[in-house]
Amino acid sequence: MADDLTLARDLNPPWRVLRVELHEDVYPPPEGLRTPTSVAVEIGPEQGGTSQIALYSLDVERGRALTVFAGQIQDHIIDSTGGRAVPACPGHQHPLSPGSVDGVASWLCPVDVGHHHELIVPVD
Ligand SMILES: [Zn+2]
Repeated sequence: MADDLTLARDLNPPWRVLRVELHEDVYPPPEGLRTPTSVAVEIGPEQGGTSQIALYSLDVERGRALTVFAGQIQDHIIDSTGGRAVPACPGHQHPLSPGSVDGVASWLCPVDVGHHHELIVPVD
């Protein structure tokens, strides 16, 4: 946990949560499917700059929604830092991947889950 906080400080992410609202799809779903329900979270600089949207699905179980949501934010951060491996896999050059360990949303080593995994949302 302390390493994560140090990394977050080093990155000094300029982003804040700018807006959270129910996402409304502007396109009708294909026949036989229903419109997905999700929460749109807009993140970006407090002033100026480009914001990004990550969607948290309300249609799937919490762990899956959290995993996909974390992956979207990770993609935005990696893009904005020029490809920096965030969150870093300890001892490896790649970032951790969002996934599931025993049904719990986790960051895990994409090469060997046994090497490293940690909860996406730590439990106190
Ligand atoms: Zn690894």
